Formats: sequence, C-alpha cells, structure tokens
Amino acid sequence: MTRILHRSIGPDLPRAVSGQGVYITDAAGRRYIDGSGGAAVTSIGHGNAEVLEAMRAQMDRIAYAHTSFFTTDAAESLADRLVELAPEGLDYVYLVSGGSEAVEAALKMARQYCVEIGQPQRRHIIARRQSYHGNTIGALATGGNAWRRAQFQPILPETHHVSPCYAWRDQRPDETAQDYAARLAQELEDKILELGADQVIAFVAEPVVGATLGAVPAVEGYFRRIREVCDRYGVLLILDEVMCGMGRTGTIFAHEQEGVVPDIVTVAKGLGGGYQPIGAVLLSAKIYDAFRDGSGLFQHGHTYIGHPVAAAAAGKVVEIMTRPGMMDNVQAMGLRLREGLKAALGEHPNIGDIRGRGLFCGVELVADRDSKQPLDPGLKTHAKIKREAMARGLMCYPMGGTIDGIRGDHVLLAPPYIIQPDEVDQIVDRLAAAIRAAVG
Ligand code: PMP
Repeated sequence: MTRILHRSIGPDLPRAVSGQGVYITDAAGRRYIDGSGGAAVTSIGHGNAEVLEAMRAQMDRIAYAHTSFFTTDAAESLADRLVELAPEGLDYVYLVSGGSEAVEAALKMARQYCVEIGQPQRRHIIARRQSYHGNTIGALATGGNAWRRAQFQPILPETHHVSPCYAWRDQRPDETAQDYAARLAQELEDKILELGADQVIAFVAEPVVGATLGAVPAVEGYFRRIREVCDRYGVLLILDEVMCGMGRTGTIFAHEQEGVVPDIVTVAKGLGGGYQPIGAVLLSAKIYDAFRDGSGLFQHGHTYIGHPVAAAAAGKVVEIMTRPGMMDNVQAMGLRLREGLKAALGEHPNIGDIRGRGLFCGVELVADRDSKQPLDPGLKTHAKIKREAMARGLMCYPMGGTIDGIRGDHVLLAPPYIIQPDEVDQIVDRLAAAIRAAVG
C-alpha cells in the first residue's frame, strides 16, 4: 500500500530503481524504454555521470544560498549560457523550480511591466484553447484544456482564449497555410479589440503544443503574423516552451524555427533533464530595464529560485545538449521515429495523424479517418494504450485531449536526445503493438 497521493489513485505503480541512457529499470528487474522522457523531461538520458558530478561538486561547495542574500556561480553561469543560446532580444533570466512556476512568473512579469511603463489599465491575458500551461491557479487559468480546468473554473482568474493553430483539424480545405495563419491572427486581433486596444497584457502560446494536442506545430508564418498583431497593440508575446523547448524540437528554443523573438519565454523540463526540478524565464531587456528604472525589483519570488544545485545540474545538461551532433541526432532520430510510425501505423483505420518536430512526436487516434471523429471517450483508449505499452516495456505519454468539448486520444513521444536508431525502432514496434492491442 502506498502513503503517497499519486496522480491516479488505484493502480500499483512499478518502482523505478535505476535509469541509464534511454532505459528505466523497476524493482522487479523489468526494463522500460523511455519513449516519452517521462513527460518530455529526460533530455540527455538517465544516469549521466557528468551531471551527477556537477551536482556533487556544487553540493561540496554550497547546496543552498537564499537569493535575497547571495547569487552563485552556478546560477550566474547558467543564465549567461541561456542568454548566449537564445536569439538576440532575450537578455535576462529568472530561475525557478519548474514549468508552472515559470508560467506564473512570466504572467506576473508581464503585468508588472505594464504597471512600470505607466499602463496599469492593461489587465487581460489571452491564450489559446486546447493548450496547457501548468497546474497552479494562474497557469491553469491560462491553459485552454477544458477538461483540466472544469472543476476549478470558479476559482480561476478570467483569461481569454482564441483558437489554437491546429491545421490538421481546423485548416479549411479551400484555405492555404498563409490564409489559415492570417485568419487566426485576425481572430487574435479581434479579441484584442473586443477587450480594448490598450487593455491586453500578453498573448501566451506554446510554439509546438504538447500536453493537450500532442506535438502540434503551427503552420509556417503563423507566429510572424501573431507577433505583428501583438506589436500593433503593445501586447507582450509570451511563448511557453516548457515542453517543446531546450532542444526537444531540434533547436535549443522551439521558436528559433518560427522566425520570431518573443518578449518572454518559459522553459523547464528538458532544462534540468530530470536531474533537478528547475525552470527558467527568459525576458527582454525592455522588461528588465522597466523594472530596474521603475520600482527596482520584480515583485515575485519563491524560496528555491536560483537554487545552486539545480542550476549546476542544468548548466551541465545544457552543456551536454549543445555538444556537436546532439541537435542533429534529435532531428535525424525524430524523422526516423515519424517515418517508422507512418510505416507501421499509417494505414491503421484508427490513426488520424502522425506529426511533430524533432524528438517531439504525436500520434492522434480517431474513430473514423475521413470525418476525424474522435474515439468514444468512454473507451478510455489512451489509458489502455499506456497499460499495453508498459506491459511491452515502453513508456509513452497517451492523453485524452479535449477537442471542443469532445475528448480525443493521442500519444506523445519524446525520447532522450541520445537515442540510437535501434532504440527508435523498438519504440515504433512496441507502440504499434500496444495501439493494436488497445484498439484492435
Ligand atoms: N507549460 C507547458 C507547455 C507544459 O507542457 C507544462 C507541463 N506539462 C507546464 C507548463 C507545467 O510544467 P510543470 O509540470 O513543470 O509545472
């Protein structure tokens, strides 16, 4: 019996006892291939001796120093490195302990910026439906996952939502990608005008939608159009790369592939690679300068921000993921994964779409390929796939997403960046078998 309140109450979870490379072993000696990096967390693989050494060395020096008294080499050098890696225009870093914390900090940063520049009337946040930005109250309010929000709705701060960029379902047959992007940008502009041209703080979006839709990138040009709309009305652009950032899509920041520079970016998961709980918010100099020249502080903070051991671990994880060849491997293995999945499952009557970018892949299931009608939610197909996959030694991340109130099932794959071709092929084989066992 467990005394832990796990996310799902009931099923006995296997006990993980060791991890090496792309594998986790449980107490019964069963080995699982980590096809999802947990929840897109494990970036450079499990059991990396260099990261453990970096953490140990930091702990030998000092494990914790509160950031209202001290800064540390570990935190400073991580921030320096993140700014070096980011596109020009993201100049400062705020270190937190995870993704939801990063989103909360980003929201408050954006609001405080408006106050500092003399626009305190700005009070609205716009995000997208079918998105996920975390589980704390502010982040949950920002997210547009109707199922996750439902029972908490009465205590969520008001947030406004527009359509996601989800071409496979929503791009009209007579519409080019450009027209589709323009239509969505217009929808955002209309929403801003409805709320008041000078009333909106920020627009928040995931460059590649992770936990709600399953690795859905935007169409070419979408984010450039969005950036233009935000600029027209002084609305900050916050990109949430908690899941898709830090190398997951084959570039360190996912938005590098979109040709835009946001005002604020959140990262987490892959940044610490699971070695430590850590997240970061990157922000532009204009926001930092407004704080410095205004009230002289960012009115926010948690006890563990800038934690030295977490920063030391992340510093080494980032060093490893930026070594020559690593991002090439993410691109090449991502392609192999999608091609393998298409070969194994592309003709299956319940496979609607296989998509993604880099080692961030999604498989969407449907009841009918032509109408794209989701499977009956009562079947709980995503849960069955997870069980069947675990029984075959595969960790994948199946979800019952929400498509305009109808739950659709998809599987997210996000293996470590060090994965090799034979391991990719094992994921394909095991997932194909698990899906066939789950849906027939
Ligand atoms: N934003 C995005 C895009 C995410 O995918 C997640 C986690 N799945 C979060 C925020 C929240 O991160 P965390 O679970 O670390 O709080």
